[in-house]
Order: sequence, then C-alpha cells, then structure tokens
Amino acid sequence: MMTGGRISLKYRFLYCTTPLLLFLALSLQTTVTATIVVLATNETFPDRLAAFGPSLSSSQGKLGYLMEPTDDPTGCQIVQPPCDDWVALVRRGGCSFVSKVRNMQNSGAIAVAIGDPDQTGWVTMYAPGDTSDIYIPSVFLAQREYQALKYLANFVDTPMMVLLLQIDNWLEWPLMHLVILIFVSPSIVMTFLYISFKLRQRQKLKQDLAPLHIVSRLAVRRFSREKMGENDAEECAICLEDYMDGEKLRVLPCRHTFHTFCVDAWLTTQKKFCPICKRDITTVPDSVHPEATRTIMALQL
Ligand SMILES: [Zn+2]
Ligand SMILES: [Zn+2]
Repeated sequence: MMTGGRISLKYRFLYCTTPLLLFLALSLQTTVTATIVVLATNETFPDRLAAFGPSLSSSQGKLGYLMEPTDDPTGCQIVQPPCDDWVALVRRGGCSFVSKVRNMQNSGAIAVAIGDPDQTGWVTMYAPGDTSDIYIPSVFLAQREYQALKYLANFVDTPMMVLLLQIDNWLEWPLMHLVILIFVSPSIVMTFLYISFKLRQRQKLKQDLAPLHIVSRLAVRRFSREKMGENDAEECAICLEDYMDGEKLRVLPCRHTFHTFCVDAWLTTQKKFCPICKRDITTVPDSVHPEATRTIMALQL
C-alpha cells in the first residue's frame, strides 16, 4: 500500500513536470507579432517580425516615413533614398527576403515592411546563412494589410509617418501553445500543492520527534539486579528483552527505563513520547520534573 502510494506520487510528479518542460521548449519558438501604427489616422496594421535582424521595442518602436521605392517596388536592388528615416515598403517576390532587407538597408532605410500581394496568411521570414550584418528590423505584411498601407502611403503627397512596434499578444499564439497552456496551468498548481504537502509532512514528522541534544541529556544508569527496586522493570518494553547486569538504561523524565539504544532510536526516529505512558519527553511538567530528577540523580552511577 505504502509502495503503491509512493509510485503514484512519482507518476503524479512526472505528469506535472513533463508538460511544463514541453511547454518551455515550445514557448521558445513563440512567434512574435508586430504592428505598424499610422500616426495620422491611428490605424494599426498587424504584421510579423522576421526571424533575422534586430527585434523591435514594444514601448518605443521604430518611427519613420513609410515609402515605396519607386525605382524598384520589389526592393531587389539598391535605390536612391527618398528621404531620411524612411521605412521601405516593398513587394514580396523577385528575390529573397534577406536580399530585400540588405538592399533597403544599403539604401538608407531604417526598417523594411515586405508585403505579400497575393496571399492572406502571415509568413515568418527566415534567412539561411549569416545575417549578422543586418542591423535594421523587418516585418512581413499579409495581403490585406499590405494593400491598405500601400494605398495610404500613395494616397497623400507628403510622406506618411508610421511607428513599428512589437507586441507579444498571447491571444495570437498558435492554438497548440494555448492547448499546452491549459494542460500546464493545473500541472503547476499540482506541483506546488505536492511540494507544499511534502514540506508540511516533513515539518510534522520533525515536530513529532525529540531532538538529539535533548535525548542525549536524559539520565543514564547501569542495570543491577541486586539494587533494583520493587517497581523497577526487568525488561525493556521496546525490544522485550530482559535487562542484563551492567547494561546501560536510559531513564526518561517519567522514570520509565529502557535500553539506551532502543529508546534513543525510538525518540529520535519514531515519537518523542515515552513508549509506556506516552508522556512527551520534551515538555516535562514542573510537578514531575524535580522529583524525577532527584530520583535519576540517585540512580545515576
Ligand atoms: Zn530494549
Ligand atoms: Zn513513561
């Protein structure tokens, strides 16, 4: 029964920790979502940050003028910068994502927004090889957002100021992460409950035992059949062996005696009570203590 309990606790512990580790591993891959804010209209356009290049700040972000390079709207070649602090709005296709970002970086852009003219889904832009030379952030826009921003940027004659921000919105995490979260939340609670239960159990066990320094201070005498009184026990109530002459006996404050090794082990590993009268050896009533002490002193060798 005891073994069964231990096994089930182990399984419960495994149940608690496995999804947690799984969750931590998967959460490292959490897709970061960003947004473009058009300052003139306060409209926001969700987008996705590239896997390469620097990330955006969620508080300050990147402020600049969103402009399409007229020489090459795909950003596949270096262009003349239209103004300072410009954010390049380029079309997907023609060359790789990272080539577009490199070209726009070399064209003086402070950030790049790559829009998909055909697809409505979001893509995380990856780049093979070394991308440590890229120091400007880049985001991917799905078809709807790309077309809306392109329309707005070309609608007014003056450059349109935008703010690129990073948002880590848990509502937009993939469904898998949410499912894992649902499993992990009770696991965390269960782990916490299990640990606090074990700590309470250990604390209680400690409270039930007598400290070694108190036990070692209790009186000891040697058994002598000649000197034994009328009420003195002849056998140890713990091991049920008869006392032999010269054996060391521990005398508890209640005056009950036992083999030293038997009662020391009992008090420090089982209970702090006398095995016969159940009196707590750590809290001796004043009325009992002086008399018991005197008797013990008289009995001590
Ligand atoms: Zn004994
Ligand atoms: Zn006793």
